[in-house]
Amino acid sequence: MRPVRTLLALSLLAALPAFAATGLDPDDIAAAEGLRERAMRGSEAWNVVESLTTEIGPRLAGTPADAKAVEWAKAKMQAMGFDKVYLEPVTFPVWLRHHERAEVLAPYPQPLVITALGGSVGTGETPVEAEVVAFANLDALKAAPEGSLEGKIAVITNRMVRFKDGRGYGPAVGARSQGAVEAARKGAVAVLIRSIGTSSNRFAHTGTMRYAEDVPRIPAAALSNPDADLIEHMVARGKPVRLRLDIAAETVADYTSHNVIGEIRGRELPGEVVTIGGHLDSWDLGTGAIDDGAGIGITFAAGALIGQLERAPRRTVRVIAYANEEQGLYGGKAYAEARAAAGEIPAHQLGAESDFGAGRIYALRAGVDAAAWPVVAKIGEVLAPLGIATESTGGSPGPDVGPIVAKGAPWAQLAQDGIDYFDYHHTANDTLDKIDPRALDQQVAAYAVLAYLAAETEVDFGSLPVKAD
Ligand SMILES: [Zn+2]
Repeated sequence: MRPVRTLLALSLLAALPAFAATGLDPDDIAAAEGLRERAMRGSEAWNVVESLTTEIGPRLAGTPADAKAVEWAKAKMQAMGFDKVYLEPVTFPVWLRHHERAEVLAPYPQPLVITALGGSVGTGETPVEAEVVAFANLDALKAAPEGSLEGKIAVITNRMVRFKDGRGYGPAVGARSQGAVEAARKGAVAVLIRSIGTSSNRFAHTGTMRYAEDVPRIPAAALSNPDADLIEHMVARGKPVRLRLDIAAETVADYTSHNVIGEIRGRELPGEVVTIGGHLDSWDLGTGAIDDGAGIGITFAAGALIGQLERAPRRTVRVIAYANEEQGLYGGKAYAEARAAAGEIPAHQLGAESDFGAGRIYALRAGVDAAAWPVVAKIGEVLAPLGIATESTGGSPGPDVGPIVAKGAPWAQLAQDGIDYFDYHHTANDTLDKIDPRALDQQVAAYAVLAYLAAETEVDFGSLPVKAD
């Protein structure tokens, strides 16, 4: 026995400094590696997305499909063995798309492919028929003289640039969010934008827009990228380009949907939580496979894998299917406000969300106390065989995690390869066939490792500076 004991003592000694810094022992690491390997042999994620996109399909917030998706998520979590599944209310105004049509009347009559932007009003009793004034970007529109667009349709043609991390979206998306307000300020009767997406296919890209109190609410829609090209080519000929726009859309009464929450109960600190999740709602054009059926499938499967362990982690792992992310982060905000009201922000060890499609994860980033970085680095070691690098700077929490991070909760990001994300995102082309099941398995492995080790470590991830509202 003696040699064995000595060896054990030696290995414990060797492990001691590492343990002190990471709060994780070799058994914990072995358990995390086991989760990783099980996920890589084949996870449930694709089956979950297949079920959601087939049985529910598009699930625009506040529609009957939203209610069906909530029931679906609850039943799915229960079937996957979560210890506790419950709903929390999320209230928001409901926007409905009825129809949208556009065509060129002159000089070269032909139909156009458009989609109304989320929140847009319709064109009213009679379609709008007006001449186009094209702008290269939002700033050019802002620089137009007051009243210069009286009775005109403003068209903004800025093009989103493709990047692996999606950073082309931010600079381009102002045309969508602010275009209607700026066009109306100059007197325009409607605004059309080039789709904020990278697809060369003839699918238009929807997404939210907003109005301001002091200017008229004018209809707003996106042209598919090829149709934006077409308008540019016509305008370049110097002849007046006249369009007909017929949009029926409206914002109706408030509706209460739900965040759907499933938990794997922590064995020692059940009141402390690590959250992972995705958003359950989608736009109405596709079936919401990559945005964000993938995030739902990945995090449901990762949570369920942790639930199958013989010994639960010390803290609770909470999987959240957020309501209505698309139209204003309503689910993430409601979740954060409910936790703040209950004094539960300090109980949040870590939050992460999967909402960037179905491409493989290539980096781990985090926002945690300095004292927790050795744990993040250790998690990174377990993730390294998945092709994931740990980056000690940069990154940001997922959209629905943002509101609780602003209240001081730590976050992690598992950054995905989004090189083709904006080819499908918010279009009719966001469908299940765009998802590689093996890529989902890699992500389930990463989320399971991250959630398990963050929930297991004896190190507290601390808190972040609280941001003003
Ligand atoms: Zn999304």
